[in-house]
Amino acid sequence: MTVFPPARHDALELEELFTPEEKAIKARVRAFAEQHAAPIINKYWEKAEFPHELRSKFGELGIGGAHIKSHGCQGLTTMGAAAAIVELGRVDGSLSTFFLVHSYLGVMTLGLLGSEAQKAELLPGLSNFSKVAAWALTEPSNGSDASALTTTARKVPGGWILDGRKRWIGNATFADVVIVWARSSETGQVNAFIVRKGNPGFRATKIEHKISLRCVQNADIHLTGAFVPDADRLPGVESFADAAGMLAMSRCMVAWQPVGLVTGVYDMVLRYTSQRRQFGAPLASFQLVQERLARMQATIQAMYLMCHRLSQLYDAGRMSHEQASLVKAWTTARAREVVALGRECLGGNGIVADFLVAKAFVDAEAYYTYEGTYDVNVLVAARGQTGYAAFKTAGRANKAPPPTH
Ligand SMILES: Cc1cc2nc3c(=O)[nH]c(=O)nc-3n(C[C@H](O)[C@H](O)[C@H](O)COP(=O)(O)OP(=O)(O)OC[C@H]3O[C@@H](n4cnc5c(N)ncnc54)[C@H](O)[C@@H]3O)c2cc1C
Repeated sequence: MTVFPPARHDALELEELFTPEEKAIKARVRAFAEQHAAPIINKYWEKAEFPHELRSKFGELGIGGAHIKSHGCQGLTTMGAAAAIVELGRVDGSLSTFFLVHSYLGVMTLGLLGSEAQKAELLPGLSNFSKVAAWALTEPSNGSDASALTTTARKVPGGWILDGRKRWIGNATFADVVIVWARSSETGQVNAFIVRKGNPGFRATKIEHKISLRCVQNADIHLTGAFVPDADRLPGVESFADAAGMLAMSRCMVAWQPVGLVTGVYDMVLRYTSQRRQFGAPLASFQLVQERLARMQATIQAMYLMCHRLSQLYDAGRMSHEQASLVKAWTTARAREVVALGRECLGGNGIVADFLVAKAFVDAEAYYTYEGTYDVNVLVAARGQTGYAAFKTAGRANKAPPPTH
């Protein structure tokens, strides 16, 4: 089964939410994903390798520059970016994540917080994927509590010396530039630095044995006396709040990722259940299968609409951290349900990567965890509801003296 199934998931004609320009991006990325990625991606997924052979085709899509409108970047709208994320994820979750890390963490951070010289040098190559970016915030000991990061940046004449470790950093094994977040020895505040491929103090080791998003090359990074010149510090970054601002934007885009995943699963399951026969009839003619198909389709429409509204709020400059967290947590949780329903419909083939659904089943797990886990995102959302930051309360409680009774 090599040809990707036709798109049949759009029950409420949600394609109308996109402008003609955004529809053109959607069609372009869908054609790329179906024709070029779908036939080869399982081979790379099996080997847990990134499909570098797709890099030049990625460059032709006109999506690499994210929302940035200068230095060769295309200035996508939020729904234009969503169109690309959905269509990549419909065929493969790893490709969607590669794009998101590169463009909506790397390019956006450089474009919004970099110097004019940094942008002029790096954005043209990044916008057409001839260069690749990574974004390094998480550390082995600081995941959900990323603001407690301990990587240090010590001021020396002409630059900075970076020491510390990072974990889970997507694209980092082959990225040309890695945006590293580190604490300044001068101010105690978090700053951001461009660490370039080949820096002798930088070592990235691929995290092996990952069962989700296997084509994404996540790395453990060791920074050992890595010298970064003054010109490679991002002047727009003054504190952790700047990292949090970038994460809010990318969280809006990450919320769309599960939408792509479930549209692909639905299309695959509809074709499979229509073609496969048991007891003398197509699976799709049995009531239990039809109930699952209807439930999947309804959930997909709701996911789409939640993300669309979040995107509208972002474009209006009114999206809060709480809103982004609410939607990201919700869509990633719903995706787990939809892929599980899809997996059931395929019987034994539901655990074989060739039929897409098994791959989506495990890819949904990474979406559920990164860019803030489900737990942390719902607690951020609930902070908006209640005024209590429960994720912080737990930390303080741990530091309290043990009860005396
Ligand atoms: C595939 C993948 C790609 C990634 N890519 C990148 C990247 O490119 N760059 C980058 O910087 N990072 C990246 N990350 C890191 C990601 O953002 C973190 O994994 C995530 O923030 C969670 O951190 P953790 O894994 O250390 O889990 P932990 O923080 O250790 O959490 C473990 C469990 O405890 C729960 N928990 C933690 N704190 C609380 C609390 N206060 N209240 C209730 N429950 C809590 C969590 O919800 C979770 O269930 C990636 C991660 C993955 C898995």
